[in-house]
Amino acid sequence: MYGGHEHDGHEHRDGGTDGERAYGDEGEPAHGDAGAGGRATRRDQAVRAAVEQGLLGPDAPLVGLLDVTGIRQAAAGLRSAFEAVVAPGTPVLHAFAVKAAPLVPVLRLLREAGLGAEVASPGELALATAAGVPPEATVLDSPAKTPAELREALALGIAVNADNPQELARLDALAGAGPVRSPVGLRVNPQIGAGSIEALSTATATSKFGVALRDEGAREWVLRAYEERPWLTRLHAHTGSQGVPLSLMVRGAAELYALAEEINARVGRRQVDTLDIGGGLPVNFASEATTPTFAQYARLLREAVPGLLDGRYGLVTEFGRALLAEQGTLVARVEYAKSAGGRPVAVTHAGVQVATRTVYDPGAWPLRILAYDAKGRPKEGPAVVQDVAGPACFAGDLLAEGRALPLLEQGDYAAAPDTGAYYFAHHYGYNSLTRPGVYGFAPDGAGGVAFATVRAPQTLPELVAESGGAHADALTTLRAPGRR
Ligand SMILES: *Cc1c(COP(=O)(O)O)cnc(C)c1O
Repeated sequence: MYGGHEHDGHEHRDGGTDGERAYGDEGEPAHGDAGAGGRATRRDQAVRAAVEQGLLGPDAPLVGLLDVTGIRQAAAGLRSAFEAVVAPGTPVLHAFAVKAAPLVPVLRLLREAGLGAEVASPGELALATAAGVPPEATVLDSPAKTPAELREALALGIAVNADNPQELARLDALAGAGPVRSPVGLRVNPQIGAGSIEALSTATATSKFGVALRDEGAREWVLRAYEERPWLTRLHAHTGSQGVPLSLMVRGAAELYALAEEINARVGRRQVDTLDIGGGLPVNFASEATTPTFAQYARLLREAVPGLLDGRYGLVTEFGRALLAEQGTLVARVEYAKSAGGRPVAVTHAGVQVATRTVYDPGAWPLRILAYDAKGRPKEGPAVVQDVAGPACFAGDLLAEGRALPLLEQGDYAAAPDTGAYYFAHHYGYNSLTRPGVYGFAPDGAGGVAFATVRAPQTLPELVAESGGAHADALTTLRAPGRR
């Protein structure tokens, strides 16, 4: 029922740009692997099944769907990509960046697939802990860690990357109180430049992250910091993110390796024993192809920085988006189909609350839109230029503008693939729109699709409670002192 034919038609109608390289050619053909076709087929089946099983419908007009098979494949792909390039026996921890998909069942699935967690707040640490990620597979990276957070991390033995000299001074005080069990590193910013999205470029000259290595005196300060602290055994940089080309990411890793070598030469022993190269592999939002791949990045690292992988250093990575984005799909019912100024507009339930970056910055964060009919089947028909709008009360709340798709009609569904990271898991409470349910899907073993609740839809009583419902009288009964 969901053969290649339907899928092909869908791709075509979507105006997909398969084969196009969105992020620069790294000398390899676009990787339209079996996973991509498999993923599209699984997604079509899941949308259909979600409608048939009532997860999606008039009373549940918005859901986030997560492809469990795809998540497992992505995790396995990451591990094998690095296994193929590191010397045998090299310790490697792939710490999933929790901020990309802060959902406990996702973290547990990734843990089962052999990954750890990179956390940047007490909330993210609590999620990783709830998922069963042990301290030795957890890395704490926030730029604003409080003394209490640092103390807890050291007590638990969680790896900590200090962001700046003041944080290092706090760690000095804690280290003075007893032996440091946690691996501790310093985050540096190699200042190698920006990618195409300013807000996500972590390695600019003035980035807020880490110790800016090229600032006057900074390198010498770092060398001395390590000389004075034998417990400082790691180095960390996270130079990539969406919009940053692979070549720049590789340069960031090369700078990190060179600094580690310099520190170890200065102190005369292998004090720095682990390099944390961060995450940041970009995702191709323009088509079904997974590009670049973890394997491409790993091979480039081996060519450009062989010493990083020759077994003298343990390795930590912190990928988020590249693991989860392609595994998630937002599906929204078309509540109304109208026309304005000659342009058809599909008013759906997915807008700024679940696609915040796309709505506020559509140029930097375009999403593909797939059209499904009221039964959840890929929609056929001639492409019509139309807007796909969200439910929020401002004019710019558009999921896609002027997109050529089969005409969306009332009761149809509009889906936004590649939204498994930083989209529906990152609800924005505009208009008090409730958080949609998030469901994982997998084959049910009998030719159908099974769903599991990852996050239940937010209820109205929950929304009221989170909006101060228990304090309804708080302001009307507040009196200035002395005027009681
Ligand atoms: C956000 C972040 C990551 C993950 O970035 P992705 O682009 O999602 O791979 C990793 N490390 C740090 C320190 C981060 O801030």
